[in-house]
Amino acid sequence: MNPLRNRHRGSANSVLGRRHLNTTSHSEEHSGFTLIELLVVIAIIAILAGLILPALAGAKRRAATTQCLSQLRQFGLAGGLYANDHADFIPPNLDGENIPLGETWVQGWLGLPGPDCTNTLYLKQSLLAPYVQNTALWKCPSAQDVTLGPFRMPRVRTLSLNAFMGSSVRSPAAETYRRMSDLIQLSPTEALTFIEERPETINDGAFSLQWDFKESQPSGWMVRDKPGHLHNRSGNIAFGDGHVETHRWINLGVPSVPRNDFEAPNDPDVLWLQRHATWRAPEAIRN
Ligand SMILES: [Zn+2]
Repeated sequence: MNPLRNRHRGSANSVLGRRHLNTTSHSEEHSGFTLIELLVVIAIIAILAGLILPALAGAKRRAATTQCLSQLRQFGLAGGLYANDHADFIPPNLDGENIPLGETWVQGWLGLPGPDCTNTLYLKQSLLAPYVQNTALWKCPSAQDVTLGPFRMPRVRTLSLNAFMGSSVRSPAAETYRRMSDLIQLSPTEALTFIEERPETINDGAFSLQWDFKESQPSGWMVRDKPGHLHNRSGNIAFGDGHVETHRWINLGVPSVPRNDFEAPNDPDVLWLQRHATWRAPEAIRN
């Protein structure tokens, strides 16, 4: 045997051996993440989650607003169909508890969480039931369930009808509208009909505003029924021509407002609601 070849082979073996050892040691060094690498990965995931989660929440909120608008549009259309079938009359609308059906369009006193909050029977008996047959459309998708005794149950209604619409009350202080054709000074495109109410304060089927409201006396402005605010401090509203809008409240969109009537001097939301709910003769606005 050539000693040179042996030497060479021995040398080659030892080199290979070293390479093998080196390779093994190299892979052992990188067999897992180092702590720094792990922290970097976690930080990146946290940053991505921070970017994506608010976007997902925003998308979910917008989807709920769109669904709610679509539901309210059904009521805008239903009001028009009802008038078509009833000699142009707007559904009768009277505020108060225990008003007979026929004097008002939907019964049920929701008030503080009680059995009427979760009873779909009133909706099925409503004068608009022939035009809105799915009772799920009466509730804002963003409204939370209520606790009744040991049970958690879904609310069934979160909308009402502008109290100046379908009202039999006659007053020099403000116009009321029995027929769709009464909408002249207050045009159908700006006349508020169905409106989302705050789930925690909604009671009857009428959305009531201050009757003796005077634009020239902002110190005496009041809030009675409270509009819905569940869509990013905004609520959905249907108008006399059937179109729907999401309206953002400036002051009434806050998470909590007084449950009872309260004074709201110079409140722009009160002014907007009053101007879209009824028309007042100039002397009624001034005096
Ligand atoms: Zn809604």
